[in-house]
Amino acid sequence: MNYISTRDTAVKVSAASAIASGISKEGGLYVPENLPKLEKDDFAALCKMSYPERASFILGKFLGDFTKDEVDYCTKGAYVGTFDDDKPAPLYNLYDDVQILELWHGPTCAFKDLALQILPFLLTTSAGKVSGGKKTVILVATSGDTGKAALEGFKDVPGTEIMVFYPSEGVSPMQKLQMDTQEGKNVSVYAIKGNFDDAQSGVKRIFTDPEIGEKLNQNNMLFSSANSINWGRLAPQIVYYVSSYCDMLSAGKDLKDGFNVAVPTGNFGNILAAYYAKQMGVPVNKLICASNKNKVLSDFLNTGVYDRNRDFYTTISPSMDILISSNLERMLFEISGRNAAKTVEWQTALKQNGKYTVDADVKAKLDELFYGGYCDDEKTKATIKMVYDKYGYLCDTHTAVAISVYEDYKAKTGDALPVVIASTASPYKFSASVLSAFGKAPSNDEFETVNQLSELTGTVPPTPIKALRGKEVRFNNLCTPETMDDAVLKYLNIK
Ligand SMILES: *Cc1c(COP(=O)(O)O)cnc(C)c1O
Repeated sequence: MNYISTRDTAVKVSAASAIASGISKEGGLYVPENLPKLEKDDFAALCKMSYPERASFILGKFLGDFTKDEVDYCTKGAYVGTFDDDKPAPLYNLYDDVQILELWHGPTCAFKDLALQILPFLLTTSAGKVSGGKKTVILVATSGDTGKAALEGFKDVPGTEIMVFYPSEGVSPMQKLQMDTQEGKNVSVYAIKGNFDDAQSGVKRIFTDPEIGEKLNQNNMLFSSANSINWGRLAPQIVYYVSSYCDMLSAGKDLKDGFNVAVPTGNFGNILAAYYAKQMGVPVNKLICASNKNKVLSDFLNTGVYDRNRDFYTTISPSMDILISSNLERMLFEISGRNAAKTVEWQTALKQNGKYTVDADVKAKLDELFYGGYCDDEKTKATIKMVYDKYGYLCDTHTAVAISVYEDYKAKTGDALPVVIASTASPYKFSASVLSAFGKAPSNDEFETVNQLSELTGTVPPTPIKALRGKEVRFNNLCTPETMDDAVLKYLNIK
């Protein structure tokens, strides 16, 4: 199993090399050369397995140059004893055939843990094979949840350093606190004056800067990425879609006509994993892509025009406040029939004009696969309240966007197939916004707000959130998008 680049299909590297480097030299993203297929017997076997075993089974197919022992070492390290009740991705039946796939039972209470608990294992195993003893430097741009999840995953992992950049005004108070109090000897956290796209562009620029690359090389280091441009982050996300299918089968659900999947989307990583699960043989029917007011993706899916030249909004679902969705590149590569030239053309236009239009045949394929919709803050809050009042279930602001767009989809199309709605964060990561959905004013103290929400709804805050109270703030760094390079060199102590 080798990996090719979305911008040059002649590039061909091993899984270890794709994961260790994160991104291809010419700026393309790695995708598997052939997608493994799951057959009936495979699903029958998978249904009987635990989550870590399912992960080994599926990831093993993608990790061509890993031994079985290495794959098991990675999945056990990531998924045994690290999630509540050892259930990384349980389904909650909201009503009828509507299942909520709860992906926030990990150490940082967002779905990023599913990938970032395992990435350090995948990455250090990969680096051991291909990096010749060099230290791996992880740079992360985050809209809030990736940063904390990556810090938790990589803290004190030998042979790694990790630096996280988050938008100073773009994360929730709890997200900020989670990152600024991070423990570990190999970690560094920066707020940047700018939004997520600025952080992401900065990281991409530093990655591909030959001069900085050479400086690292001289110091026996190399960059890698913990963002979802790294295949090592995407592959683990495929697992939970396969796993949710198995759980529904085991529960005796009738899925002969397939099921739909609804995902609150930002960088297009999570929903892309659902697409790959579908291509591998999971009977996913429609992929319902839910945006917040930064609806560049739902506009794209509806018009075929990707246009980031628009106002950027700060919303109550901040992890989706993104106008450049990196993983869409992989999707476009796939549905253009793996056309690297077209992919380059669109990405170049995006870089130069902030805009591109896909061809009619690509648009037709998108229509077949996807439904795109959006939900603003008011409707997000109304959905949180409705879901709680009607079903006694408390969801976070991101999950609410997906529920709202799913309900719109069902009303519009009459498609009542079973659905899996990805729930991407605990409501307690966004306590103030969730509380405001009930018409209550949050306290100035974040932990008071957590208590208020708990008392009002009779739900229990996750242990990792409660444990943050009183923790020492270790980081208070601020830089601009332009000075990110200096920050990196300074932290690594190289000139
Ligand atoms: C990252 C994130 C998203 C967006 O996921 P993508 O894979 O970037 O599309 C949605 N919700 C939450 C809570 C997140 O942390």
